[in-house]
Amino acid sequence: MLTVPALIVICSQGFGVQLERAALILPSPHALLAKVDYQGLVAEEVLDSQKFFETALKAENPPADLTPQVEALLARMTIEEKIGQMTQLEVGMISNGKGTKTRIDRDKLEKAVVKYGVGSIINVTDEAFTTDQWHETIRQIQQSAQSTRLKIPVLYGIDSIHGVNYTVGSTLFPQEIGMAATWNPELMKRAAEITALETRACGIPWNFSPVLDLGRQPLWPRFYETFGEDPYLAKVMGAATVRGYEGTNVAAKDHVAACLKHYIGYSFPLTGKDRSPAWIPEIHLREYFMPTFQAAIAAGAHTIMANSGEINGVPVHASHYLLTDVLRNELGFRGMVVSDWEDIKKLVTQHRVARTEKDATRVAVMAGIDMSMVPSDYSFSDNLIALVREGAVPQARIDEAVTRILRLKFELGLFASPMPDTTLTSKVGSAESRAVSLQAAHESITLLKNSNNLLPLPKGGRVLVTGPTADSLVSLNNGWSYTWQGTKSELYPKDRWTILGAIEAKAGKQNVRYLPGSTLDKEVNIAEAAEAARNADVAIVCLGEAAYAETPGNIEDLTLDDAQLKLAAAVAAAGKPVVLVLVEGRPRIIRRIADGAHAILMAYNPGNEGGQAIADVLFGDYNPGGKLPFTYPRQANALVPYDHKPFELQDTNFGNTASMPQFEFGYGLSYTTFAYGDLRVEPKSASIGAEITVSVTVKNTGMRTGNEVVQLYVSDLVASITPPGKRLKRFAKIHLEPGQSKTLKFTLRPIDLSFIGPKNQPIVEPGEFEVMIAGLTGRFTLSQAP
Ligand code: BGC
Repeated sequence: MLTVPALIVICSQGFGVQLERAALILPSPHALLAKVDYQGLVAEEVLDSQKFFETALKAENPPADLTPQVEALLARMTIEEKIGQMTQLEVGMISNGKGTKTRIDRDKLEKAVVKYGVGSIINVTDEAFTTDQWHETIRQIQQSAQSTRLKIPVLYGIDSIHGVNYTVGSTLFPQEIGMAATWNPELMKRAAEITALETRACGIPWNFSPVLDLGRQPLWPRFYETFGEDPYLAKVMGAATVRGYEGTNVAAKDHVAACLKHYIGYSFPLTGKDRSPAWIPEIHLREYFMPTFQAAIAAGAHTIMANSGEINGVPVHASHYLLTDVLRNELGFRGMVVSDWEDIKKLVTQHRVARTEKDATRVAVMAGIDMSMVPSDYSFSDNLIALVREGAVPQARIDEAVTRILRLKFELGLFASPMPDTTLTSKVGSAESRAVSLQAAHESITLLKNSNNLLPLPKGGRVLVTGPTADSLVSLNNGWSYTWQGTKSELYPKDRWTILGAIEAKAGKQNVRYLPGSTLDKEVNIAEAAEAARNADVAIVCLGEAAYAETPGNIEDLTLDDAQLKLAAAVAAAGKPVVLVLVEGRPRIIRRIADGAHAILMAYNPGNEGGQAIADVLFGDYNPGGKLPFTYPRQANALVPYDHKPFELQDTNFGNTASMPQFEFGYGLSYTTFAYGDLRVEPKSASIGAEITVSVTVKNTGMRTGNEVVQLYVSDLVASITPPGKRLKRFAKIHLEPGQSKTLKFTLRPIDLSFIGPKNQPIVEPGEFEVMIAGLTGRFTLSQAP
């Protein structure tokens, strides 16, 4: 049950006669999230999204008050030592060589840790390290730190963004976009726990994850790193991830500090290109892009990374408003803020808001950056020491930043045990963890089309497998896999199935013919593949993308490459049933080939167990239940998220359906069928501030056991800020045997009926609301509180 703090009812003026309505201003959602009563949650049969979310916000052991230790240490530090703590370098600054050949360079290490006293080191040298190598690296770094005057341990940080992707032999999970498609926050939490354990097992206590940017611009090359387009789904999954990483005691040997990325507005650049300007009015920033961060802060996340980009002409690294006024004073964040890669330098070289790097350093530190990911020279330390000596940056600001850094190190238990715990090594990549990854891949796969129940396929038939993603672990994983770009196929494990391998294993090698057909962007043997399709019972055409990360993944056109479209069309023209399998990090336009395919499976980037999972779905060993966490566009220039305003697609009223999406947000089929009935909304009318209960019964009406995601949407029918057609407010993933039914009960609270009003605060207005669940609708009316 949520305890709603005192509510203020005001009469909003100045919207014109029609819009003059009493509105309820809610305290910031953060305040609401923080006041959760956890009693009685376990009694419910189904853990709906909100109940899970609210338990995820709770840290059972409130952190000990470390103020005395931190203050005592700070009091002993020189200005150079303090600024050293604020400095973060990449591991190449203390080593030589690449990947598994990397070796610590004693002189470089001495310069970084002893001379400059750097607080943090990050990353790999191009390629994944082995666990032994991690232990040796961290051990040498911490030994060096022990030789310094104050023996402050170094905080190592890494991007374990879909599992420990920079460690040989670790468990890799689906990328975040696939995890979002599971609509299963409990599973997300479990995957994050495994990632935390495997990261700590390497001796690393800090993970630059999760990405909480919303995937509302599908061109953006980091789309696959997001939980999709919806703020509610993303905030539930994000809070689950934080809870999984941090546990209830972040110092525990199987947990790590999370880093929320990339605060804020990074994912919505106008051009769709990475690190290019965004124009986001504050009302939208708060409505769409802030809730994920708010929720993850409420879940106790210890660190945040700033957005490399700019919003409305202001680079976030230079924004005191966003980094301090909003983040600290409004959202109540107490942890540490780290810059992104070279982003203080980029205030000069890219954004041109500062003339010199020294001035950029002043601007960023005064805006609220506590630690600079410099990361490949000592300019930050040198500049900041000079700035403090000149009085351009006050000591108090340095002390504030260093206090946060030291507190984090104490909270992580680094002072007590800085060395890696090698006893955890055997847990890295365990069979049990792989099974969780397989489950995640299974639950993510989304069946988008299945004409005449083509799927599941019988196991004895003749199968043609073709397409550029059919035999590629690289595509199954995408970027951040063994290398930053994920493109080095030789680094992938040798004992995991590609889609082709898994199909051969399941359907019998003798029944499977494989022809590549095309590469990602070039024709190879399309005519031969089409000919082979004629002799097969079914053609499985595996399309999509290779691997990319950040700016190298920028594209000019969302449409799938011509060679692949041509391959799919040629195979379809052979007249045999065609299954498209999409292995891609963003929805590439498939309009030209979608109608010619009998079945379409969206696999996202399912990770190293993805080949197996796809084959299991194709041949019926797993009944798919994934749902799209984004709108799959039909046209490259019609990118409209599901929660658009009704008039954004008004040309459809004139019979033009071109801008209708290829597949809707939340869509996904199953091998069984579900019937929804008995939608009840209670009470039908209430005062603002009351809770509304919605119940619905779902029955498995088919022949197979299946999972269904029950999705509750709400539409505020008339509002003073033009309302979207609908917004997701609750969901619950349920498991039903054939013939079984379940009744679900959701409780909507005032905050769920609110929107960001003209004064940039959440408000609830009186009037009529519509509740929608799977085609059923019900209404209720809110009136002004007495
Ligand atoms: C990315 C961050 C990442 C950092 C460290 C940057 O380029 O934007 O997401 O955490 O590098 O690897």
